[in-house]
Amino acid sequence: MRIAVIDKDRCQPKKCSMECIKYCPRVRGGVKAIEVPEGEEKPVIAEELCVGCGICVHKCPFKAIHIENLAEELKEDLIHQYGKNGFRLFRLPLPRRGKVVGLLGENGIGKTTCLQILSGKLKPNLGRIEEEPGWEEIIEEWRGTELADFFRKIADGNIRVSYKPQYVDKLSSYKGSVAEFIDEMGVKGRGLEEIMDRKMSEISGGELQKVAITVAMEKEADIYFFDEPSSYLDIKNRLEMAKRIRELAENKMVVVVEHDLAVLDFLADIIHILYGKKGVFGVVAGAKTARHGINLYLSGYLKEENVRFGEEIKFEKHPPRQLEEKEVLVSFKGLKKSYNGFILEVESGEIYRGEVVGVVGPNGIGKTTFVKMLAGVIEPTEGEIDAKVKVSYKPQYIKPVNATVGELFESNKEKFHLLYDKEILNPLGIKDLFDRHLEDLSGGELQTVAIAFCLSMEADIYLIDEPSAYLDAKQRMKVAKTMKRIMEKENKAALVVEHDVYFIDMVSQALMVFSGEPGKRGVARGPFSLREGMNLFLKDLGITFRRDEESNRPRVNKIGSTLDRQQKAIGEYYYEL
Ligand code: ADP
Ligand code: ADP
Ligand code: SF4
Ligand code: SF4
Repeated sequence: MRIAVIDKDRCQPKKCSMECIKYCPRVRGGVKAIEVPEGEEKPVIAEELCVGCGICVHKCPFKAIHIENLAEELKEDLIHQYGKNGFRLFRLPLPRRGKVVGLLGENGIGKTTCLQILSGKLKPNLGRIEEEPGWEEIIEEWRGTELADFFRKIADGNIRVSYKPQYVDKLSSYKGSVAEFIDEMGVKGRGLEEIMDRKMSEISGGELQKVAITVAMEKEADIYFFDEPSSYLDIKNRLEMAKRIRELAENKMVVVVEHDLAVLDFLADIIHILYGKKGVFGVVAGAKTARHGINLYLSGYLKEENVRFGEEIKFEKHPPRQLEEKEVLVSFKGLKKSYNGFILEVESGEIYRGEVVGVVGPNGIGKTTFVKMLAGVIEPTEGEIDAKVKVSYKPQYIKPVNATVGELFESNKEKFHLLYDKEILNPLGIKDLFDRHLEDLSGGELQTVAIAFCLSMEADIYLIDEPSAYLDAKQRMKVAKTMKRIMEKENKAALVVEHDVYFIDMVSQALMVFSGEPGKRGVARGPFSLREGMNLFLKDLGITFRRDEESNRPRVNKIGSTLDRQQKAIGEYYYEL
C-alpha cells in the first residue's frame, strides 16, 4: 500500500515554480497523478494514479511531499485520515477499566488524534474522506471487538469523558481567581486550598498544571485523559500526581500521554508505542506492559512488528568518571540573597568549563535567583562571585513573538558564536522551520527554537530552564547531545534546570542540588559529581531508583520495598556500587 501526504503548512505554490507537477513523469505522459484542483491553490496527488517514483518529493523546494510504502496489512486498520493527502492513523489503543494506558511516541505521530477519537471529539472516518461513514458503519467495521462496544457507548452518548489538555499555559489567560475557575468547572479543587485566592494569570506553570489535573480528576466521568500531566511539575509533584492518577484508575478508564519516562513507568500499567513518520502516518502498536514497552521504546526497535523507529538510548549503571583537569569558569563564596520572606543561601562552589551542570530541586526554591546573581542581574545580599559572567537564558515559559523562525535567527546573527549554524541549527532541524511563524509552531517546536536560540548566543554560561517541556523523548535526547557538544567545543558551561530524571542523566556531568522550603528558605549546594549529587537530592526526596536488568534504565522503587530499604541503608539512591 502506498500513501501520499502533502504538508499544507509547507507547500507554498506562490514561492515555487510548481516543480512537483512540472517534473511528474505521469503528468508528462498525460495522466493527472498530481494537479491543482479547480478553484484551489495547492496541488493534490491522486494516490491511485501516482506510481510512487518520488520525483516530486525530491523536486519540491519546501520538502512538502511525502510518499510512503506501507505494509499491505495496515490497509484494513486505517482509522482516520485528515483530508485528501492528509496524515493517517492506523489502529487504536483500547482503554480498560482499572488500568492506566500510556501512549508513547514522538510528536506528530498521532497521540492526540487517538485521544480525540477515544474521547468522542473526533469521529473517525476510516479514510473515507469523500463520504464519511456514520457511527453505525464504524461500529459495524469493528464488530466483535471490544472497540465496537466502546464506540457504541460514544455514539449513544453513554460515556462521560474528562480531558486534561496538553497546554496548561493557556489557562493563565483566564480572568479571575483559582477559586472562580474551579467553581466554573463545577468541582471542589481539593489540594488547591493554598492558591485558591490567587489569580489564574499570576500562578506558576506548575500550579496551573495542578489546577488542570485536579479539575480533570474531580469531574465525574467514565474515562479520563491526561495529555502530558508532568510538564512544569517538580519531581515530588510528578510522583504525587502519578499516585493520584493511579488511584483514580482503580475503577475508571485512564489514558495518558507522557514523555517523562521515569514518571510514565511509575504511572502506566499498559503502554502502546506509536511508530511511523511524524506528520505523515502513525501506527498504534499492540499493548505491552509498562516496563517492556518503555524498554522497547528506548531500544528503538519493535520486534513483533519488525520496525526500527529510532536510535537506541542507553544508560550507565555506574557514575561517569570525572575529568581530571578542569578549568574554573566561575566560583562563588558564601552567597546569600534575601527578599521579603524568602532567603537563599548558596554554599561555596565552582563551575567548570566544558560541563553541563544539572540543577535539581523543587519549584520556588531559589534556582532562578541564584542564576540571576551569577549573571549580575541582581546583587547578592552577602558574599561574592569572582567574576561577572555573561549569561544566555532560556526561560521556562516561552512567549512567541510576531516573526518567522528565519527572521528571528537572521536578525540576531551578530550576537551568535561561530558554531551556531553547524552545531545547533542543523542537528536540531531548525532550518526546516525557517518559513514558519513562531506563533504557529507546536509547543515542542517552539521549545526547540527557544533552546537553539539560547545556545546560539555568545555567552559564558547558558542557563536553560526546563528544556524538556513539550519535547518528546527523542527530541530530549537530541537536545541533550547538542548541549553537551556545544559546551565541550566552546569551552563554556551550562546550567540546566530539569525535573525529568532521564534527561538529567543524559545531559549532566555534574549536579547542583537545591533544597529547603519552597517560597521561604532555599539552600544551594554543589556542583557535585553525579553520584554525590543524586544521592543528596534523592535522599532529600526519600526516593531510590533501581536499575532495569535489560535496559539499565533507572526505575523508581516502591517506598518501603526491600530494594528501597537496602539502598537507603547504604546511601546509594541512584547508582549501583
Ligand atoms: P501527536 O499528539 O503525537 O503530536 P497529533 O495527533 O496531534 O500528534 O497529530 C498527528 C499529525 O496529524 C500531525 O502531524 C498533523 O500533520 C496532523 N493533524 C493533526 N490535527 C490535524 C487537523 N485538525 N487537520 C489536519 N491535520 C491534522
Ligand atoms: P525557582 O527558580 O527555584 O523556582 P525563584 O528563584 O524563582 O525559584 O524564586 C525563589 C523565591 O524567591 C520565590 O518564593 C519567589 O517568590 C521569590 N522571589 C523571586 N524573585 C523575587 C523578587 N524580585 N522579589 C521578591 N521575591 C522574589
Ligand atoms: Fe511547490 Fe512543493 Fe507545493 Fe509543489 S508541493 S506546489 S513544489 S511547494
Ligand atoms: Fe508523480 Fe512520481 Fe510524485 Fe507520484 S511520486 S505524483 S508519479 S512525481
